[in-house]
Amino acid sequence: MAQPIDLADPDRSLIAGNWKMNLLHAEAVALATAVAAWSAPVAAAGVDLLLCPPAPFLASAIGAVAGGAVAVGGQDCHAKASGAHTGDVAAPMLASLGCRAVIVGHSERRRDHRETDPFVRAKVETAIAAGLVAVLCVGETLEERDAGQTAQVVTRQLRAALVEAATDANLVVAYEPVWAIGTGRTPAPGDVVAAHAALRGILAARGPASRARILYGGSVTAQNARSLLALPEVAGALVGGASLKAAEFRAIAETAAALRRQPA
Ligand code: PEP
Repeated sequence: MAQPIDLADPDRSLIAGNWKMNLLHAEAVALATAVAAWSAPVAAAGVDLLLCPPAPFLASAIGAVAGGAVAVGGQDCHAKASGAHTGDVAAPMLASLGCRAVIVGHSERRRDHRETDPFVRAKVETAIAAGLVAVLCVGETLEERDAGQTAQVVTRQLRAALVEAATDANLVVAYEPVWAIGTGRTPAPGDVVAAHAALRGILAARGPASRARILYGGSVTAQNARSLLALPEVAGALVGGASLKAAEFRAIAETAAALRRQPA
């Protein structure tokens, strides 16, 4: 039986699927079951797999991946650990269910719910305190990119969220250009490298999280996975739309595994 992934080793690659507000219950269970079925050799090659289903399906997804080498995480958590916040999900709730991680600061949350840098920081704090890996999303808008502000924006977002308790084992950063999410557009390789290098510079100055993984996210597909995952400092991918298609997500994960077996 494969070992469940604990996501704590910064030397492993990470391929995460963000299902967003998609799928119905039976479809979510079928997708989680399918991923678990092929997960073992991918994990054995050094690639962590993380699925982030909608909150109502978390318990079923955790059940569906049992026996596979797959972690399950939330798509968001509240900044507080409990309280009068109707409809929200608390990080300790996720941890108590068996989740290993939670996405925080996704651009869709920043946009739809007007989440600010300080609020995202509080989420990172609460997630880590609950024993979860915080997958912190940062990324520039098209206007910011066109104004040459990418490095400035993403390093501001990271600095704002880099809490004292963050370490290589409990923080993952996902560089997700807002204009690349769900659009089929991706940055030029040099732009991904530059953004990741800027983020690494911030992490490197902070001892305990200096080696935290930095993922790329934004229109990753089976077709472009190799070119993106082979870039320096790209430790994996946060995958949205393509993670809803079992075969495509598998192809992305197996590309990551192949790159580890035969480094570019
Ligand atoms: C995302 O939402 O995190 C994402 C990367 O989406 P997509 O892969 O669909 O661009």
